[in-house]
Amino acid sequence: MLRGNVGRIAAAGHCDVVPATPEAVLKAALLIRNGGLVAFPTETVYGLGSHASDDEAVLSLFAAKGRPYWNPLIVHVDSIVSATALVDLEERSLVLARENWPGPLTIVARRRSGCSVSRLATAGLETLAVRVPDHPVALALLTTLGSPIVAPSANLSGLTSPTTAAHVADSLSKVVDLILDGGSCRVGLESTVIDLSGPHAILLRPGGVTTEKIEKLIGPLALAGSRTESAYRSPGMLTRHYAPGRPLRLNAHDVRPGEVLLGFGRVPGATLNLSQQADVEEAAANLFHMLRALDRPDVTAIAVSPVPSLGLGGAINDRLRRAAADNAESVGYSSTRLVPRL
Ligand code: AMP
Ligand code: MG
Repeated sequence: MLRGNVGRIAAAGHCDVVPATPEAVLKAALLIRNGGLVAFPTETVYGLGSHASDDEAVLSLFAAKGRPYWNPLIVHVDSIVSATALVDLEERSLVLARENWPGPLTIVARRRSGCSVSRLATAGLETLAVRVPDHPVALALLTTLGSPIVAPSANLSGLTSPTTAAHVADSLSKVVDLILDGGSCRVGLESTVIDLSGPHAILLRPGGVTTEKIEKLIGPLALAGSRTESAYRSPGMLTRHYAPGRPLRLNAHDVRPGEVLLGFGRVPGATLNLSQQADVEEAAANLFHMLRALDRPDVTAIAVSPVPSLGLGGAINDRLRRAAADNAESVGYSSTRLVPRL
């Protein structure tokens, strides 16, 4: 791949946060074309993007986030047709893609022979995770570049995901080349990840598309059974993640000394409230932003009111459980519904 003198500008400490105008999107595409790293808005959270086929850029992306190399990246494309150049999308995948793309659904499918995506980006797996983001800036960037972009969330690995350009700048301004500012992310939670590379459709991560909606389209989802199997199927799923600097206490009905309460619904004493109306979509959009706002030195712990596991509530509780987990603890997704376990 050709490299110009753009690329690692940020290594010298100059990272611009710019409104995502068409000129800025073109600049961003050129930076990526030349091996650079660009943070950009999607409907889920801000992504940190590099060219999907550029080994060196992919390595610098892992390094910038401090992300373990064994945790594969999601490949972003501009259309179903572009996705089919990379992976085999069988019937169930096409049904899901037609109904949900662009949108917060990631499909894991078998990699096609001749697929150009860097093996480093996919941790050497024979499968690849792909999605079409539902954000005009992300789509403009993809079509301007004319190639897939690999993009994990634009935050240091394991910490709270960014839903504004300012969040990205807080932790990554020294290591990215450009941050495109497209305002707050509409959904506020990462994509749902479904593995369709084998005979069973497996929920690897609950997210922006509800499991109810997916099951209406393709029937019941299975869960990866054991921790070992989950780790094998989706290496990034088990560790502590999304975590603020203070401990979280979940399902809290009171506020203890030194704590602040992150409320849900009409609860008294909340410092911030995910949704006064008890609306899980509003709560999802507020979750990471509010966790960051309460992550203050004067706070001993963040207590969080119970959130029902309905609709996006399932994904919210998944993120809260992982954020609350001890470092050493592994967290598998567990559903409140009865689902077949593999
Ligand atoms: P993130 O980039 O943090 O949004 O996380 C993406 C998630 O997708 C990680 O947990 C990865 O483990 C998972 N993932 C990416 N590629 C694959 C794949 N080929 N097979 C299974 N899981 C994947
Ligand atoms: Mg992430």
